[in-house]
Amino acid sequence: MKQALLIIDMLNDFVIEGAPLEVPSTRAILPGLQKRLAQARQEGIPVLYVCDAHRSDDREFSRMGWPPHAVKGTSGSRIVDELAPLAGEPVLEKTTYSGFYGTDLERVLKDLGAEELILTGCVTNICIFFTAADAVMRGYRVRVPRSLSANLDDGDGQFAFEQMEKILGVRVDP
Ligand code: ZN
Repeated sequence: MKQALLIIDMLNDFVIEGAPLEVPSTRAILPGLQKRLAQARQEGIPVLYVCDAHRSDDREFSRMGWPPHAVKGTSGSRIVDELAPLAGEPVLEKTTYSGFYGTDLERVLKDLGAEELILTGCVTNICIFFTAADAVMRGYRVRVPRSLSANLDDGDGQFAFEQMEKILGVRVDP
């Protein structure tokens, strides 16, 4: 089965200490994610980046209550150096939780012939969860390695892993 590795929202504004929407556990998953990324590249598994890229007046800030983060063009919106994309690796910009909403993700995956998506990054119960749901509804198989998915709150993360397994048929790997 043709796989694709998706790295979601591993951006300076989520990862760096003191960042506006810091998710401290992203730093704990970083070494494992670097290893997985290197492995995928070596095995020829396509790597795609799905990244928040907000306007400075995005409704996510006013209506959903998030502090401004990942504003397009700022250094905070850049992928962390440790996971920097190589030339030719698609970087898809999104403005909300699902990587499919308003992006070219589906077309890119189709062009690659991907059938199974490995979702990694942050955070489990938000962007990973909603991207997993949209992927499943589009007929993709989805795997989420627990050790490569960062939580803002461990209880929320645990709930999301369980929902993905039970409701979406996602395979949650160690
Ligand atoms: Zn956002």
